[in-house]
Amino acid sequence: MRRLVALLLSLSVLSGCTEALKTGDEGFSARVALLLPERKASRYEAGDQPYFAQKLSELCPACEVDYRNAEQDAATQLQQAQDALAKGAKALVLTPVDSVAAGQIVSAAAAKGVPVISYDRLVLKTAVDYYISFDNAKVGALQAAALLQALGPKAAAGEILWINGSPTDNNATLFKQGAHAGLDGKVRVAAESDTAEWNPDNAKAWTARTLPTLRGRTIVGVYAANDGTAGAAIAAMKAFGLPQVPVTGQDAETAALQRILVGDQYMTVYKAIRTEAETAAALANDLVRGKRPAAPASVDNGAGQVPSILLDPVTVTRDTIASTVVKDGFVTPSALCAGA
Ligand code: BGC
Repeated sequence: MRRLVALLLSLSVLSGCTEALKTGDEGFSARVALLLPERKASRYEAGDQPYFAQKLSELCPACEVDYRNAEQDAATQLQQAQDALAKGAKALVLTPVDSVAAGQIVSAAAAKGVPVISYDRLVLKTAVDYYISFDNAKVGALQAAALLQALGPKAAAGEILWINGSPTDNNATLFKQGAHAGLDGKVRVAAESDTAEWNPDNAKAWTARTLPTLRGRTIVGVYAANDGTAGAAIAAMKAFGLPQVPVTGQDAETAALQRILVGDQYMTVYKAIRTEAETAAALANDLVRGKRPAAPASVDNGAGQVPSILLDPVTVTRDTIASTVVKDGFVTPSALCAGA
């Protein structure tokens, strides 16, 4: 009898123990909308989206990701956000197609008490809850420094082509500012253009249109804001019969790393997208549970200070592919050398 009592007691202690270890929200569920801007850059669907979904499902197994892609159309993105809110999203993770117009999305969310994380690109002129990105002026500075290094004395002997990103993306403004700060006064610019919608087809068409107007001038390099525009410029220059010159990029896309390996592109900028996406997932998980963690930095978006987390971008050239993107598991040697 005594033994039975002891056994029952220990069982009840144990069940108390199991209870005590529960967090109380095992069954917690919420919808989180992930609103990404486009598909032409490979990062969004190969990186941001799966890394985000994976991390959120670890932190909140019953949470759901409502993923949308706006295909570079701001009006589509507004509709997608409205639909996600109507379907009960409790947080928006938003990479705006148009940094200013996206204020409408943020206001629609605020009207429902739904917090918004400005993801990778900053929403401008409307108060937003958090901003997670990279130091984007530094991205431009790294591109400029690498281009100058590649050009060496040739910087004085010719001119460069200059291809920016979408004028509606605040990041494109920051990349441009960072790059101009590094290159102005050090190399002459033959022609410069923004790229509507970041669309590589637009960058290629601009390069193809511009080169014939520059006959007789020496193009020694290309500042291209990302890998998509870099690939476009390289293709247009090849078609025009020009020799290889140093070209910058950004995103460490597999195609760009392969161009770097064969010498068609000089550099890219590696941004640890996995860390960025996982940081956003952890923050979204906090927000849907009513927590508002402190952020290490703050950025003025024209409507006040936005609590921010800014990660560090890294230059990648042929010599550092192994020690950066491969070492970090961002790309595998077999993916890079496929077909070689
Ligand atoms: C991102 C880049 C991307 C570009 C085009 C920028 O806002 O930071 O990584 O290449 O948009 O989508």
